[in-house]
Amino acid sequence: MIISEKLIKCVKSIKNLAKKVILLYNFNKQAPKSILESKINEVNAIETDTDNTSGKYLSIPSLLEGFTNTNTTSEKIDKNRSLYRFNGVLTINDSDYICPKCGHKMHINNSHQITLKHLCFGGNFTRVCFDHTQFYCENCHNTNMQNISFKADNHRITTELYNYVRDLLATGHYTNKEVAEITGLNRNIVKDIDKKRLEEKYTINGKLIKPERQAIYLGIDEFKLHNGYKYATHIIDLETGHILWIQEGKKKQVVYDFINHVGGEWMSKVKAVACDMNSDFEEAFREKCPNITIVFDYFHIIKNYNEKVISAIRKDEQNRLKNEGKTEEAKTLKRSKYILTSSLSTLIKKDKEAENGKVIDKGSDLFKKAPVKRTGSKVDKYNKILEENELLFTAELIKEKIQHAYTLTNENEMKLEIEEIIDMCETNGNKHLLWFTKLLKSHMYGITSHAKYNISTGKIEGINNKIKTLRRQAYGYPDDEYFFLKLFDISRTK
Ligand SMILES: [Zn+2]
Repeated sequence: MIISEKLIKCVKSIKNLAKKVILLYNFNKQAPKSILESKINEVNAIETDTDNTSGKYLSIPSLLEGFTNTNTTSEKIDKNRSLYRFNGVLTINDSDYICPKCGHKMHINNSHQITLKHLCFGGNFTRVCFDHTQFYCENCHNTNMQNISFKADNHRITTELYNYVRDLLATGHYTNKEVAEITGLNRNIVKDIDKKRLEEKYTINGKLIKPERQAIYLGIDEFKLHNGYKYATHIIDLETGHILWIQEGKKKQVVYDFINHVGGEWMSKVKAVACDMNSDFEEAFREKCPNITIVFDYFHIIKNYNEKVISAIRKDEQNRLKNEGKTEEAKTLKRSKYILTSSLSTLIKKDKEAENGKVIDKGSDLFKKAPVKRTGSKVDKYNKILEENELLFTAELIKEKIQHAYTLTNENEMKLEIEEIIDMCETNGNKHLLWFTKLLKSHMYGITSHAKYNISTGKIEGINNKIKTLRRQAYGYPDDEYFFLKLFDISRTK
């Protein structure tokens, strides 16, 4: 027994010795002269893993040029994940000795351990660890670090990991937080990588790219920035939905800068621009590009009407009912915002769905949750509110008339319809409705232009929704430049 154990031990150590000799031989054969100078001690220290031949390890191609993996260690990060450290040496090339400043030959000054984050392996993270050499030039007293061909600029990560992060972000399916979790990187690093990606995609020499195509119809709209106090403006191609320009502020300057950016030639081919009546944009376009027709689109006019007229009247009426001691009625009105700001056709559609027993929420046997079905009689509620409230009834009628006016394709017919609306408002005399007539009168030209240019502003609405979603996702510290580039990108990805 004892003899055979000793024999096995002896054979094992001979095997190991042979392996070391082979490794040393291969290593020296491949390495250029320079490595022999500086790395001979490390080569002697190379430990081969004796299990390597027993099928415990996989050999996969490495794109880490010049790096030789000498041993790998692993440690547990948590219950399910490990961290693999690929320890090794980085070959010094002849070119590393040449001083980038004066071209003289440098000598090795010192070296220190460097760790680069590398591709993850399933849920496990990996690191590449090696000595990084510093050179010194006696001629010009310059010091220079050895080139690492596989290191990403400005980050302690490999280019392979960098590219993987970029690819994940480019899919548009993952948030930065998710990418950070998948790759084990800090969220700010993920953000930096994403920003760089977007800059390369959408800027040239620090300026936004020119529009990819000639737009015929433009839309311009403002949106709130993170804090809600500042505004920004975007200009989009209404046919593609691509954002062509974003700038902080909501003043005329935005329009001037955009025109400057795309040039007069490009602008001369634009036929119409859709915008909100409550803005300076109209004036700026008229000033600089008189050839372009201004259109006050349906989306913006209804937005104004809902926010400034319907909601205001509803609040007034609520207060009136409260003062008259009709608390129940006041409560009903308070809950009616959705019904009053939806179009009648939407309410009819929802009632139909309710009749057909449309299920909004499937419910769950597992969690004893009952299914939720669409509740009906929205139209009934709507009618009841209007019956009880003459003013709201008039306001609703006017809304339907606006809807109708925006289906007309003859400018004169549309003008007649708008004039009828003005009459209705003036006859009623409510202050909110009177405010609205002023808006209509002073913008008649741009309103009836819609009959000529039936511009759909659904794309503006779509982008505004995307802005809201994106604003909800936190991106570390606020960075408007990144936020704008992100919007640029989102408008171009389906
Ligand atoms: Zn030098």
